[in-house]
Amino acid sequence: MKAVAITPKRQNSARLVEMEKPSIGEIKNNRGVLVEVLKVGACGTDREINNGEYGVAPSGSDFLVLGHENFGRVVEAGENVRELKKGDFVVATVRRPFGHSIYDTIGQQDFTTDAEYWERGISRLHGYWSEFYVESADFLIKIPEKLAGIAVLLEPLSIIEKGLKQAEDIQKRLDIWQPKTAAVLGTGNVGLLTVMALRMRGFDVHGFGKQTREDYLNAELCEAVGATYDSTDELSVKDSVEKYGEYDLIFECTGYSPIAFEAMECLNENGVLILSSVTGGDRKTDGIPTDKINQKFVLGNRVMVGTVNANREHFEMGVKDFALCEAMYPDWLARMLTHKIEGLENFAKAFEILADAGKFKAIKTYFEVAKI
Ligand code: BGC
Repeated sequence: MKAVAITPKRQNSARLVEMEKPSIGEIKNNRGVLVEVLKVGACGTDREINNGEYGVAPSGSDFLVLGHENFGRVVEAGENVRELKKGDFVVATVRRPFGHSIYDTIGQQDFTTDAEYWERGISRLHGYWSEFYVESADFLIKIPEKLAGIAVLLEPLSIIEKGLKQAEDIQKRLDIWQPKTAAVLGTGNVGLLTVMALRMRGFDVHGFGKQTREDYLNAELCEAVGATYDSTDELSVKDSVEKYGEYDLIFECTGYSPIAFEAMECLNENGVLILSSVTGGDRKTDGIPTDKINQKFVLGNRVMVGTVNANREHFEMGVKDFALCEAMYPDWLARMLTHKIEGLENFAKAFEILADAGKFKAIKTYFEVAKI
């Protein structure tokens, strides 16, 4: 079968490789599931890995099959798999509990304290940019047929769901927390999914992006689900507080770390700031009003939390939000799937788009590996 692989730490090494089709026997306890890949997403992490900045090959291999955003169909299932059958649509989670930390042991590998982690398509495990993969049923989420068209967006959504679940868990410190307003920093595909997830929870949502509103599909999509959109060139997040008030919740997903400090100044009393950008650079910013920020956090019981990866429950939360979104705003999610690439062999096109999403007006770039 065909797959797209890279050599870790080598720039622009993406290439097509021929691999043996996997079999369910590779998974223990007869829990194996063979999945035919239908759609796989491409994101900034894939770009960074192909840039040689990130990514680890599985032990014994000198290459890593890319891809962690996935959607496929069950071809065959082991005899101890009762929850899935041939023909079912599935999305697989990304991280596996192969570390030594207590969190890996209890199945909360997304909270691992180990320095090493096992993530399909990212670190130590081959990913999903291939025609087939096998996985234990434990890591597969069943997708209702009606959501098949957009389910390739579930993995990015799972990251947001985990962030929101953490905020909710943290806020249990308050006997009553009735948040009303939220700011979402960044309106790329992750930001838009965050806007959607917060609208599904009834928040007044304010999205912020770099580009001006005119002819910007991302802005239109914010407004189509009842959120506002502002370009930070016209209204900074800090100044937006005068217009919209301080926010009960802020979700940062721009990839631009200085904005996190600006966000710290815009949070309401008892509010929560969620950080989700994996900023691999070494940017530094001067002139941060540290006394002011520190005092604001202390006097207002404010919270900031980082979030990475997602577990099964967060994918399941995502399926519910998708269902509600489809019911409330039919086809809104499908409009995010802006750039389809037919066939894995055209991977170079995916990287071209990822390198300049603005120029291509791309929200989500994805491969159609096989037809539904
Ligand atoms: C993936 C996560 C992963 C993170 C860090 C993200 O792009 O969506 O599943 O944990 O990268 O490797």
